Amino acid sequence: MSTQNKRYRRPRWHISQFKVKEEAGKVRFHDLFLPIALMRAIQEVGYQYCSPIQAMTLPYSLDGHDCIGKAQTGTGKTAAFLITVITDLLEHKLEEQYVGEPRALILAPTRELALQIEEDARALTKYSRLKVAAVVGGMDFDKQQKQLTEQRCDILVATPGRLIDFMNRKAVFLDQVELLVIDEADRMLDMGFIPDIKTIVRATPRTEDRQTLMFSATFSQDILNLTDRWTNDPVRIEVEPKVKTSDQVEQHVYLVSADEKYDVLRRIVKQDDADRVMVFANRRDIVRDLSEKLKADGVACQVLSGDVPQNKRIRTLDGFKEGKFGVLVATDVAGRGIHVDGVSHVINFTLPEDAEDYVHRIGRTGRAGKKGVSISFACEDDSFQIPAIEEYIKRKIDLEQLPDYLLKDGLFAPKAEPEVAPEETSVESESAPEEAAVESAAAAEQAPEAEAEVEAPAEPEQPVAEEDAPKAEEKPAEKPAAAAKPKAGGEQAELALESAAAEPVGEVTEVTVDETEDGPEITVEVFVAEDETETENEEDQEKAPKA
Ligand code: AMP
Repeated sequence: MSTQNKRYRRPRWHISQFKVKEEAGKVRFHDLFLPIALMRAIQEVGYQYCSPIQAMTLPYSLDGHDCIGKAQTGTGKTAAFLITVITDLLEHKLEEQYVGEPRALILAPTRELALQIEEDARALTKYSRLKVAAVVGGMDFDKQQKQLTEQRCDILVATPGRLIDFMNRKAVFLDQVELLVIDEADRMLDMGFIPDIKTIVRATPRTEDRQTLMFSATFSQDILNLTDRWTNDPVRIEVEPKVKTSDQVEQHVYLVSADEKYDVLRRIVKQDDADRVMVFANRRDIVRDLSEKLKADGVACQVLSGDVPQNKRIRTLDGFKEGKFGVLVATDVAGRGIHVDGVSHVINFTLPEDAEDYVHRIGRTGRAGKKGVSISFACEDDSFQIPAIEEYIKRKIDLEQLPDYLLKDGLFAPKAEPEVAPEETSVESESAPEEAAVESAAAAEQAPEAEAEVEAPAEPEQPVAEEDAPKAEEKPAEKPAAAAKPKAGGEQAELALESAAAEPVGEVTEVTVDETEDGPEITVEVFVAEDETETENEEDQEKAPKA
């Protein structure tokens, strides 16, 4: 054979190259009998042991059960559903598959989250032939359409609005979906996406003919009603994080009048030690206004809010990471998933309406072992939010008078090293705002357009009318029956129980298993220091042997 015809194969990889020692109370990915291509990818991303949500979910989800998981970001829930999806698709190969017909659909409420899931899915499918695509609002429509209509797509990650656009254009058909994942269901509800999700779910096979995994940070009655409708006899898994605000963050809440706020902000960002600052405000118009004023005062800053086009948001975030400008002014929706190291200060120009966002905001600083400062402004209006925040963080907030150096321009903070707030702030995720969810459930039935100035989900930009979308190949006459999968055996349940003490992403404090009429209900209480997971994971990645 001539060298030209020779097919070069990737060097073979053997599971023996991925060594993780058995440890009591921890579940290794090796214990779950995952496909080799997936194990290789898991090794490469640096995971060794399952996080509690993974250890609790995977034994059931890999057995084909529907699962509803109460878990927040930071628990490893993305990998929990991706590993399920990838394993299932690799184990049940299809003879025929047509373009525009994804086998797994993952719905996420925001572009940022969808793109993060897409990235994780690409990493975990790196050594398989599975194809991943993402359709999200505000990004290149044609490119996304091509992904759907010109090649096979196994795993489709989507935000609801853009997916419906493609469904209407007949660029995507959901009747072959074998696995449906609905991530952050509570946020979908808050953001008014439920009518869209209903349309999407209706286009997929019936609950008995697909596997459905739903994740939500809260299980309000509204969410439970939806899980009843969209899942079939689900196993319910709860990982209760007691989120801790980082003790690396020195927290201040200053009493200021509304009129004083801007001047104080300007003085803070002009301090020498304020080299990377995130300023949060509750509304887009405030964010825009602040950014304009700061620019006029010679401060290099940019805006991140739902009305900034997606590609600009990505550029802005990259610029901030690279230190091209020092101040980023953001709303909560835009600022939530942002992970930028080296943020020296977080300023709450207005206190958030949702107490949980207070913890998310200040968690943007004090990361990767570095100290950070959070400064919140409390004027008369903001003070209404304080009791809810205190209740949420289980700690009294001391309202401070402005220090001298913030009263006048040109003065500088005393040089002394600030003391790190000694008190631990424990937060039960239970206190998530259920009322808001109920309110928004009603709102969800209306058009999802929020008031112009209130932060709302960035909805997909409508594409300019184009000629008819290229037709996907003709669809097969009959849908292949979904592969029958066995029920979870006792062994798997035991494995789940053992895993209770597994703690790669948090320390387990309590596990309960209740046998209910609807099947086993497992609750794991796990202690997660905010953002600790990422740091750990980064360390893990460094340590992980490269395949
Ligand atoms: P998520 O909750 O899905 O946003 O994941 C939080 C972080 O945990 C991400 O950075 C993941 O890469 C990481 N992660 C997920 N599973 C594991 C694991 N088993 N071991 C270590 N890190 C993990």
